[in-house]
Amino acid sequence: MISVSQAEKIILGLVRSISETELIDLTLATGRILATSIVSRVDFPHWDNSAMDGYAVKFADVRSSTPKHPITLEVVEEIPAGSQPQREIQSGEAARIFTGAIVPVGADTIVMQEHTQRVQKNFVKIQITPTARSFIRQRGEYAKIGDPLLAAGTILNPAEIAILAATGSSEIKVYRRPRVAILSTGDELVTPHQTLKPGQIVDSNQYALAAFVQQAGGIPIWMGIVPDDRAKLTTAMSEAIESADFVLSTGGVSVGDYDYVEEILGSLGGDIQIRSVAIKPGKPLTVAKFKRDARTIVYFGLSGNPVSALVSCWRFVQPAMAKLAGLPKSTWHPTWIEAITAQDLSADGNRETYLWGKLELIDGQHHFSLAGGSHSSGNLINLAGTNALAVIPVGTNTCPTGSTVQVLGI
Ligand code: AMP
Ligand code: MG
Repeated sequence: MISVSQAEKIILGLVRSISETELIDLTLATGRILATSIVSRVDFPHWDNSAMDGYAVKFADVRSSTPKHPITLEVVEEIPAGSQPQREIQSGEAARIFTGAIVPVGADTIVMQEHTQRVQKNFVKIQITPTARSFIRQRGEYAKIGDPLLAAGTILNPAEIAILAATGSSEIKVYRRPRVAILSTGDELVTPHQTLKPGQIVDSNQYALAAFVQQAGGIPIWMGIVPDDRAKLTTAMSEAIESADFVLSTGGVSVGDYDYVEEILGSLGGDIQIRSVAIKPGKPLTVAKFKRDARTIVYFGLSGNPVSALVSCWRFVQPAMAKLAGLPKSTWHPTWIEAITAQDLSADGNRETYLWGKLELIDGQHHFSLAGGSHSSGNLINLAGTNALAVIPVGTNTCPTGSTVQVLGI
């Protein structure tokens, strides 16, 4: 049995980041990972433009203007957003301007509409002392042509997508999504569409793991239920290995008479790297590496217990998925949050123990409250509605109420 941190290290060492890319339309890019770096093709903003509705003026003309002694200028042009100024502003002149419109040549300051008064048809009174260059967004102020905007490995969220649109990248190169085969092993399993006979249970793991894979940005490949039968398992596991980057199977990795997964991994040419980990829940964890041509496939044989399977995913598969998907190294580790526990947390001290519950931010401090009910690895009911796992390290038996614990968001 190896420690959690040893297991994490071994797993990350096995994973090769996907290098294959695909071209996709920007409208489909949310959550995808950029495969090239993006350099600005234009200056941002593209030209000096007004940040306000108001008047474009020469500062020198209005520097001595005050509310009591306003200076009057002649309005010689109107410049709405999207149009090009037609003339240069001369001394004594102003242009009516709107937010986003190009500042005309000759003007160097914008006076907000609220600080002006229009008189007759073509004159405006400047009723404050403006600040030189105020309310002008300068060309290239945010980014200049050739500036790096986005690095390869960036996950595309709304802000990044806005940048890609603004640089005219309507098609972008992203890494292909990880393919993750999921299979459930066990004679007792049936699909949710079937009626349970005595001793049978619904294969909930297939659904839970597919949802996990989707949330992690991968494509789940549903391999279905496979009975505890050597020949059938061999066929199904072999197909899974051929079709995916990762394989997640549940069940059949304990020490029971019908637990064949490890033996079959060996017979299929798998290099078994992990057999069990000092973690609760999720002690039986088989991890094997397969080489197929230039590809490396990582096989995760997870416990069939619904909570164990998910805890193994959150703790071990999640960081591995980040590396596989092409995300930067800084994301290949869980993010720990320090929280104050609202209950006494206890563990046997022999294995790193994960307890599920709710993490809340109250007055700037994170608080963890344990899910009510049984913390059995088979209890998938009280896992619902939780958003965090509190960790009790090896060698610790209790974390008393009010003490600080490390928590993993899920
Ligand atoms: P195993 O890891 O095969 O020893 O299974 C451990 C426990 O998890 C048993 O109680 C199984 O019935 C249950 N189990 C196994 N596979 C699944 C599954 N796909 N969905 C829900 N429960 C499962
Ligand atoms: Mg089983």
